[in-house]
Amino acid sequence: MSGPGRRGMAVGVRGTTRVYGILGDPVAHSLSPAMQNAAFAAAGSSGVYVPFPVAAGDLAAAMEGLFAAGVAGLNVTVPHKEAAARLCVALRPRARACGAANTLIRSARGWVGDNTDGAGLLASLAEHRFDGRGKNVLLIGAGGSARSVAHAFTRTGARLLIVANRTPKRAVDLVATLKRRDVYAADLRVLANPEVLGRLDLIVNCTSTSLATATLPTIRFADTRRDVLCCDLMYGKPSRFLAQARRAGRRAIDGTGMLLHQGALAFALWTGTAAPIGAMRRALRAAIRSL
Ligand code: NDP
Repeated sequence: MSGPGRRGMAVGVRGTTRVYGILGDPVAHSLSPAMQNAAFAAAGSSGVYVPFPVAAGDLAAAMEGLFAAGVAGLNVTVPHKEAAARLCVALRPRARACGAANTLIRSARGWVGDNTDGAGLLASLAEHRFDGRGKNVLLIGAGGSARSVAHAFTRTGARLLIVANRTPKRAVDLVATLKRRDVYAADLRVLANPEVLGRLDLIVNCTSTSLATATLPTIRFADTRRDVLCCDLMYGKPSRFLAQARRAGRRAIDGTGMLLHQGALAFALWTGTAAPIGAMRRALRAAIRSL
């Protein structure tokens, strides 16, 4: 099909089509191409979004080459977010704060890095009528996603933030970058501490345990408040953490909304226009159903 695509239909590739994509290793599993191509089609703009499998040793060459080839914007996923941030000519404050970039924006001088993961989670929580301001939050995990999420919660004005991690030193290192009072590092014993659990408004599982056969120590959900919100960043697969929360009668949401909103924020950064969120949500749901 050539010429402007009809709403909701793929726009044909032509000489003026702008190319966007995602760098990762692996990248074949990524749902971002389905979601972003639906966005470009719905917005009626001639853009196409493709997966670029890039090995760690090739990241610098890939970023330079795709810039030289006129690529208009990129997402970055595992394992490249930190290396990509180091290779950018400039970083927006969110990427600088957490030392990782998931979105690359084209500038005259080269790639500018931003990080929409944490803001994506906050937007997803807002859809569930959760506002982080003044709230007590437990983050489990201190890896790449936890860093972006922790910085987002400190920016939004959470009252208490606890970062609990299997390897306590990584939690300590993350907390040191937050430069705030009322932010604490802990090990996973905190998951069985009734005093802490009873104060929480939100628990976010930022670990990769839902993907692995290994599981987190059991959380004593009975000690949490009835209205605590439980969120797992993982999406598309059953989560033991969320299943336990639901069995205890607690509200539980997965990472689909975060994925949607980090992508919508990236789309807006690249194009300067609001993302067609409805079309992106429908495409994402369809992609998850077909996993
Ligand atoms: P990282 O590899 O950077 O971090 C993994 C974290 O999980 C570390 O804190 C690690 O602890 C912890 N962990 C791993 N195994 C265990 C275990 N057996 N017991 C306890 N803790 C464990 O991963 P990411 O932060 O990049 O991703 C984490 C999750 O978030 C993944 O499921 C990913 O798919 C999801 N994600 C979702 C997004 C979305 O848009 N919804 C966006 C980004 C990520 P330790 O430091 O001790 O190794």
